[in-house]
Amino acid sequence: MRLLNPTWYIEDVCSIDLDYLKNQGVKVLMFDLDNTIVKPYSSDLEKEVYDFLLEASKKFDVYIISNNKDARVSKVAKTVNASYLASTRKPFTKRLKRFLLSKNALNESSLLVGDQLLTDIWCANKLKIRSILVEPLENRDLVITRLNRFIDKRIRSRAIKRGLYKKL
Ligand SMILES: [Mg+2]
Repeated sequence: MRLLNPTWYIEDVCSIDLDYLKNQGVKVLMFDLDNTIVKPYSSDLEKEVYDFLLEASKKFDVYIISNNKDARVSKVAKTVNASYLASTRKPFTKRLKRFLLSKNALNESSLLVGDQLLTDIWCANKLKIRSILVEPLENRDLVITRLNRFIDKRIRSRAIKRGLYKKL
């Protein structure tokens, strides 16, 4: 299923090679929130992730793109001084498309980092922007995510076994 294939795959979000992405022409780095940069039942960024995001903001425009509610997303976004979009409704593209157009960033210089195939990666592919699939920060998910995760795990493990994902 090509629509669910990320451009790159890496287990740990903090291991993303920012200079490599820069060389690939990436200018806008978007991060999903839950289980990509924070654990689903916490609103604190862990030190390692915080440092990574600060480093990223020196080199890229960093945005947080989440399906979660404004109150939760804004709190995390503020700690790293990032613009954000809440209630995005990924994999639907309407709101993210409008957001990216407003930032003049609906193009090949944008990249979305996320932990879910059925929301983040599908959404990025529909908008024809590049993506990085990461492993979730923890095994626990928001209730709303559990069915997607069940399906995601099966697709992902098969793809990894077959070597379909390009490692970053
Ligand atoms: Mg997520």
